[in-house]
Amino acid sequence: MICRTAFTLYDMSSEVDPRREAGAVKADRRAELRRISAELAKVGPVLPGSVLRRFTRCGRPGCKCMADPPEPHGPYWSWTRKVRAKTITRYFSEEQYEDYREMFDNAKRLRSLCEQLESVTLEIVERDPRWKR
Ligand SMILES: [Zn+2]
Repeated sequence: MICRTAFTLYDMSSEVDPRREAGAVKADRRAELRRISAELAKVGPVLPGSVLRRFTRCGRPGCKCMADPPEPHGPYWSWTRKVRAKTITRYFSEEQYEDYREMFDNAKRLRSLCEQLESVTLEIVERDPRWKR
């Protein structure tokens, strides 16, 4: 049953000129590459690593963080990144986060665009008829 369906689909696709279709797909992929490249040029400053909003307790007796109910310190933002295979963590304030947020978002956008660029480029290269199947 599955084979019959596949055969029918193959029959239908043979009505389309495969060369014209391949050309259209290639032009479409090239346009996609140009779109991604244009987006990449607009990314702006990027900060690497990941950020987490957190509250802490110092544990000192009598501190508000140890009261009942506890009032933890913070919020702080912890920023973790790798530098020469070492993980480095730094903390910053809510106010700093407001200033840096866009740079972290830009980094995420940059990673996403790079993945898209790789994926479209792979699609183009995979369609090269010189590959031995
Ligand atoms: Zn405390």
